[in-house]
Amino acid sequence: MTAMLEVRDLEVAYGKILAVKKISFSVEQGQVVSLIGTNGAGKTTTLKTISGLLRPIGGEIWFQGERIDQMAAHDIVTRGLAHSPEGRRIFPRLSVEENLHLGAFSRKDTAGVRADLQAAYDLFPILGERRKQPAGTFSGGEQQMLAMGRAMMSRPKLLMLDEPSMGLSPIMMKRIMSTVTELQSQGTTILLVEQNAQAALKRADYGYVLEVGKIVLSGTGQDLLVNDSVRKAYLGED
Ligand code: ATP
Repeated sequence: MTAMLEVRDLEVAYGKILAVKKISFSVEQGQVVSLIGTNGAGKTTTLKTISGLLRPIGGEIWFQGERIDQMAAHDIVTRGLAHSPEGRRIFPRLSVEENLHLGAFSRKDTAGVRADLQAAYDLFPILGERRKQPAGTFSGGEQQMLAMGRAMMSRPKLLMLDEPSMGLSPIMMKRIMSTVTELQSQGTTILLVEQNAQAALKRADYGYVLEVGKIVLSGTGQDLLVNDSVRKAYLGED
C-alpha cells in the first residue's frame, strides 16, 4: 500500500539558507504522525511546503498518489489536505462563524458546509456559544480551537497542525490534544508538528525527529518516548 502522504528527499531554501535538507517521511491513512524538533529545525517550513505556500528546490511530495509539490495551495486544499498554521492566523475582526466559513471556501455543497459547521460546534461548544463574536476577543486556546475548526471546514482527509499547544495552559493543551485523538477516531489522518515532544509522541502512531533541517530519528511514538536521546534532548531528562 502506498502512503497517503509521501515526502521524498525534500529540500527547501530561503535564498541561500537551506532550511530543509533532503528529508523523507510518510503518513499512512488513519495515522497520527508527529514531527518534533526544537526552534528552527524546519518543521513549519516543511508544513508550508506541503500545503503549497512554499516551493521546494528539490524532492517530491505525493498526496493520495498524486504529485502536489508544484500545485497551487487552493488546489491542494481541494484535494483534502488542510493546514492549521502556527500562530493560528485567524481573522480577529471577523466573527467566529465567518472565520469558520473561510475554511470552506473551496466547497459548493451548502448543506454539507452547514453540517460541518455544526460538527465544529459539537467538537468545540464554546465556538457555538460565541459564534457572532469577533475572533480577536478569544483567548489563545479558544483561537487554537477556531483554527482547528476552520481547517476541518474543508473536510480534510489529512489535517496538518502546526504547534497547536503553543502558548496554552496545561488544561487547554490537554483539551486540544484530546481533540487530535477524537479527530483520528472520526477518520481524519493527522500530521502534528510540535515542540512539546511528550504530548505529541504520546498520541503518535509514528514520529520523526527533525534537527537543523534533517530527520535524525524515527520510530513509533512509544519507541521515541523511551528513546534515550529523545528523553535527554526533548523531554528534559538527564
Ligand atoms: P519554530 O518552532 O521556531 O517555528 P521550525 O522547526 O518550525 O521552528 P522553521 O520555521 O521551519 O523551523 O525554520 C527553519 C529555518 O529556516 C530556520 O533557520 C529559520 O531561521 C529559517 N527561516 C524560516 N523562515 C524564514 C524566512 N522567511 N526567511 C529566511 N529564513 C527563514
